[in-house]
Amino acid sequence: MLDRAVIDALFPADLPEPAYWEQQYPERSLPEGAQVTRFGPSPTGFVHIGGIYVATIDRSIAHATGGSYLVRVEDTDQSREVEGALDQFDRAFDYFDLRPDEGGEQGDYGPYRQSERERIYLTYARELLRQGKAYLCFATPEELADIRHRQEAAKLPTGYYGGWAIWRDRDAAEVRAKLDEGAPYVVRFRSEGRVDAKVSFTDAIRGRLEHEDNRNDVVIVKSSANAVRLPTYHFAHAVDDHLMRVSLVIRGEEWISSVPTHLQLFAALGFEVPTYAHIAPLMKQIPGGKRKLSKRKDPEAGVDFYIEQGYPAEAVLYYLRGLANGRLAETPLPEALAAPIRLDECGVAGPLVDLVKLDDISADHIATLTGEQILTAVRAWATRYDPDLVPVLDARREQALAALAVERDGVENPRKDLRKWSDFRRAYGFFFAELFQPVAADDEQLGGLDPRLVRAFAADFADRYQVLDDAQEWFGQIRALAAEHGFAPNAKEYKKNPDAYPGSIREASQVIRVALTGSTRSPDLFSVAGALGAEEVLRRVRAVAGAQS
Ligand code: GLU
Repeated sequence: MLDRAVIDALFPADLPEPAYWEQQYPERSLPEGAQVTRFGPSPTGFVHIGGIYVATIDRSIAHATGGSYLVRVEDTDQSREVEGALDQFDRAFDYFDLRPDEGGEQGDYGPYRQSERERIYLTYARELLRQGKAYLCFATPEELADIRHRQEAAKLPTGYYGGWAIWRDRDAAEVRAKLDEGAPYVVRFRSEGRVDAKVSFTDAIRGRLEHEDNRNDVVIVKSSANAVRLPTYHFAHAVDDHLMRVSLVIRGEEWISSVPTHLQLFAALGFEVPTYAHIAPLMKQIPGGKRKLSKRKDPEAGVDFYIEQGYPAEAVLYYLRGLANGRLAETPLPEALAAPIRLDECGVAGPLVDLVKLDDISADHIATLTGEQILTAVRAWATRYDPDLVPVLDARREQALAALAVERDGVENPRKDLRKWSDFRRAYGFFFAELFQPVAADDEQLGGLDPRLVRAFAADFADRYQVLDDAQEWFGQIRALAAEHGFAPNAKEYKKNPDAYPGSIREASQVIRVALTGSTRSPDLFSVAGALGAEEVLRRVRAVAGAQS
């Protein structure tokens, strides 16, 4: 084993002892049962919706138990780091109201960024080296590749363990010689794990699990050739979750196989093991089965998809909570958002993300909002994703509210024509002269009616148009005019004798509908005309008639 003096010389002379950090980050005084949870995003430039899912669970449990929810930026893999990735997280956390209790500049257990915790990790790495529980490894990439090839050829488990761990039991003199040469090294953990041994542990979601033990001498501090000596995920997890006094580690199920390694590290460091809860991943239905939502293949895997499309955060959170605990999907939205998520109700199989379902939830939710609330949300969304819409909404606020009021205000079943804020243009854009494209008499949406007839019909409608307060009377104008222009009074008559008419009252009304809304489907025409105002109604109908507006 290396002399303590040789070990210590590898580290800054003023590096604190473990006791110092223990004192800096004392145990928390929290009520019985309070859980401290953490979310550990890596700034790789992509925020997965699964991250928001896990963070939602973290926050819910911490808050329900009177604990704390912290966010720790896991940026020890600096090769993967992407400029602006942290802003992206902030944006996502703001949007989904998942701001942590501790993180960034806030909280007593920081820094909450692993790249700023180098000295802490080094203290514990030095400690393990001093105790002989870790060692320096100078194996080159070529040597590691060679070990791997030989293991594969011999059909042995691959890894750096037992006799394959060529630096595990080297003489101190050899290690010193390498150090004198200035050769780069990593720090490896000296695992006590045996080949073929099993360990069992309890997972808060899955119950008792048994797994093959770790036998690998995993790297705990990356190459000394780097400017900053950073820990690996495994080591940082043990040190950080201990010193941040995290009691409950909620993370993706891909980490289950690492638990044996983590148990060994916690034991070697003398730390109490937190409770683990491994969450099943969000899945996607594909023909013949399901697979994990994929960052590469599925736009809906990225949190930006939901933000850019303008799904209301409440609807997405409600949906995610329902995926975590089926009970919450059956609970009305306001209560479900406030109700705690329970780990023992989280499934072991990954839940399916179904955008059709989310659309429904979102449309239902938006239908409960007032026009004012919708307008505020649409405007906030548009400032970033549809800037041209903002001045229109600002200049035509009354028009926007009148448009949103159609079949919404004061009705029992409000329209469900908005699933996300980006739907606003499609559903309501026609209410605004600035956004409306006038329609011509030969528009294909008019179902092939003779353009001359369309023009004449529209011209007459405009010439005789009366603003009437009663819906039936208002429609009476169309009815009378349709009869004059030879349309059948109803669909039945028309069907009986299709050659005798250009269409029925239905086709005649469609002329006015398409003229006013640019679409064959729209809210109630009478209400639309009311919201547009007579002047705009005439301008649009005259455009179809071919007249200058
Ligand atoms: N940074 C890790 C990840 O992105 C966090 C895993 C954990 O929560 O421990 O997967």
